Amino acid sequence: KMQGVTSGCEEKILVLVRLRPLSEKEISGNESADWECINDTTVFYRNTLREGSTFPSAYTFDRVFRGDCATKQVYEEGAREIALSVVGGINSSIFAYGQTSSGKTYTMVGITEYAVADIFDYIQMHEERAFVLKFSAIEIYNEIVRDLLSTDNTPLRLRDDPEKGPVLEKLTEETLQDWGHLKELLSFCEAQRQVGETYLNEKSSRSHQIIRLTMESSAKEFLGKGNSTTLSASVNFVDLAGSERASQVSSAGVRLKEGCHINRSLLTLSTVIRKLSKGKHGHINYRDSKLTRILQPCLGGNARTAVVCTLSPARSHVEQTRNTLLFACCAK
Ligand code: ADP
Ligand code: MG
Repeated sequence: KMQGVTSGCEEKILVLVRLRPLSEKEISGNESADWECINDTTVFYRNTLREGSTFPSAYTFDRVFRGDCATKQVYEEGAREIALSVVGGINSSIFAYGQTSSGKTYTMVGITEYAVADIFDYIQMHEERAFVLKFSAIEIYNEIVRDLLSTDNTPLRLRDDPEKGPVLEKLTEETLQDWGHLKELLSFCEAQRQVGETYLNEKSSRSHQIIRLTMESSAKEFLGKGNSTTLSASVNFVDLAGSERASQVSSAGVRLKEGCHINRSLLTLSTVIRKLSKGKHGHINYRDSKLTRILQPCLGGNARTAVVCTLSPARSHVEQTRNTLLFACCAK
């Protein structure tokens, strides 16, 4: 069994920025859009006349997407290549990072669907190989991992297997049949995320969701002959907790605990990503949070990574937008 085939090059992390349009509510509330994409790589802050604005007005990345760009374009020009590395046996992760309401879920759901459609096409075009596509979904909330495909609310235990690496015990894995099956699983996960939640947005802004597709394939001519080589890799679609949680200071009790944990996962992820972007040498502290422990095999090494940083253009969100851009700058 072959795991983690070499991609041949130590890639940098791909950093994409997506600006969403103003919402209808923001427009009717007379919000102004202070940010715009002035070309394919630069986001620009228009309101430089704002008193006390001491931060730079232009930020450059691998690719930036304007408010009127469809998710299909974001996928095709940004995420497709990384998502499809899975068919070649290379692990990958695609993250959505940004404050609550900036478009993380909107972006990640679309990217996941386009990627699955492409993977199904690939399978159809390669009849010489036998494929198994497995789907799993988890949520990390307060450093507790839950299976989104199970109605059993028991936390999943994370164990380090000497051969397989990090393993989530009893995680449900569904063999993905077709498009309808994918839609069914996605809406099941969505419903699971809402269980017991009075304020959905509260929870979704504090938890991380990972949808993982694992693809195994082997040449049909060797099937059953004992000498077939199985290629196996995973692609992770990660909808992160709202990045405002990374800077939130709370007073006491549950809120504080949540704040700390989310802090820990997001901060650890930022540190890991920053180190990876600087050349992947030296100690990387994957073990400091559940999120990075689980994703370790799909981050760094031969794995490929993209981060889509989502931004609100609204004037009232300028502080968070700037924080997201600072994170994005550190990742590139
Ligand atoms: P988040 O997951 O970051 O909290 P959402 O993805 O839920 O944010 O987006 C907030 C709202 O904005 C949703 O109603 C969503 O449909 C809308 N939205 C987000 N991004 C876009 C976009 N690029 N184009 C149009 N609407 C968007
Ligand atoms: Mg969301």
